[in-house]
Amino acid sequence: MGSDCLFCRIVAGEIPATVVRETDTTLAFRDIDPKAPVHVLVIPKEHYADVATLAQGDPALAADVLATSAAAAEDEGLLGDGFRLMFNTGVYGGQEVFHVHAHLLGGAPLGPMLARNLA
Ligand code: 5GP
Ligand code: ZN
Repeated sequence: MGSDCLFCRIVAGEIPATVVRETDTTLAFRDIDPKAPVHVLVIPKEHYADVATLAQGDPALAADVLATSAAAAEDEGLLGDGFRLMFNTGVYGGQEVFHVHAHLLGGAPLGPMLARNLA
């Protein structure tokens, strides 16, 4: 993937990001357009398009993403009051960047999980 993928370019250091945590296999950085007081994106450094491809292709790496998400939640002081961890996936999921990323959201009550909007 690489140069065509925004988040691969962040991993490569070609596009700046505010990194809050890094491991050998994962990176956590602040969302450029935060939807909550804390909004961190957690990605595997290796390119997978979405969470289904990641979980099926490399379950251990999927677990690394979860572990880094939990560590980032702790760093951001979210463990007491709670947080939301979310993977938008595909067209119906509203995914815009096709390098899998967990949204770590918190710092205030987040409201209902979804606005009910079923036809
Ligand atoms: P998605 O809709 O794919 O689940 O979420 C993509 C997220 O990436 C959005 O929340 C958006 O604000 C964030 N984003 C898009 N471009 C950039 C960027 O260049 N840097 C950072 N840090 N976040 C970005
Ligand atoms: Zn990528």
